[in-house]
Amino acid sequence: MRADIVTIFPEYLAPLDLSLIGKARSAGLLDVAVHDLRDWTHDVHRTVDDTPYGGGPGMVMRPEPWGEALDAVFPPGAHLVVPSPAGALFTQRTAHELAAESHLVFACGRYEGIDQRVLDEAAARGRVSEISLGDYVLFGGEVAVLVIMEAVTRLLPGVLGNADSLVDESHADGLLETPVYTKPAVWRGREVPDVLRSGDHGRIARWRRAAALTRTAQRRPDLLAALDPAKLSKHDVTT
Ligand code: SAM
Repeated sequence: MRADIVTIFPEYLAPLDLSLIGKARSAGLLDVAVHDLRDWTHDVHRTVDDTPYGGGPGMVMRPEPWGEALDAVFPPGAHLVVPSPAGALFTQRTAHELAAESHLVFACGRYEGIDQRVLDEAAARGRVSEISLGDYVLFGGEVAVLVIMEAVTRLLPGVLGNADSLVDESHADGLLETPVYTKPAVWRGREVPDVLRSGDHGRIARWRRAAALTRTAQRRPDLLAALDPAKLSKHDVTT
């Protein structure tokens, strides 16, 4: 996968060199380029913002540098992702959809956001998705891009050492993952559930399924309510 990220704070994306994303890049599974929006300005102050038409507080990102930036990094076939608190909520499903793309381009807004005509023009010549991390407002789109890139990269084939990690984890099948434990078996008087030490794989699988259902019901009843009934077994219903 190729990812181009346009921002006025390229340093903000430094974590994309680290950990498993950094390894995916070194392994050639992911090709990331971070671009400074100000490289597409032409005035001495490298201006990217101006006052909003209609008045009001704050500044709006000007269309000219964004237009030139997208002319350069948003080719036909790519998918432009614009982080925005007014976008569609980012979920694991979105991460899967984006992980299936071969070329993502990210436009990081700042101030009051990007002039709407930039998005309209981009949408007239390619795919554009406005994506929100949640119902709160950040200073800029860079942190959202880090979150999206992390969720997407771990879904790319070959990135995780054990692809089974993706199967049972939270949100993979609409449920939250069960609590997890490691050695020692007793720590500060707290014991790992017996069943997990039993070696009985059938019992362990049933316990994990019941624990995932219980945890989801307690913490995220909305997820349970949205679960496809076809994904529930007779055993689940009696759990
Ligand atoms: N005036 C905008 C509004 O009320 O919708 C908020 C602008 S915000 C201060 C600046 C930039 O941060 C946005 O253009 C967007 O790129 C990013 N941002 C803020 N909150 C976000 C969120 N919840 N999800 C994704 N991106 C967000």
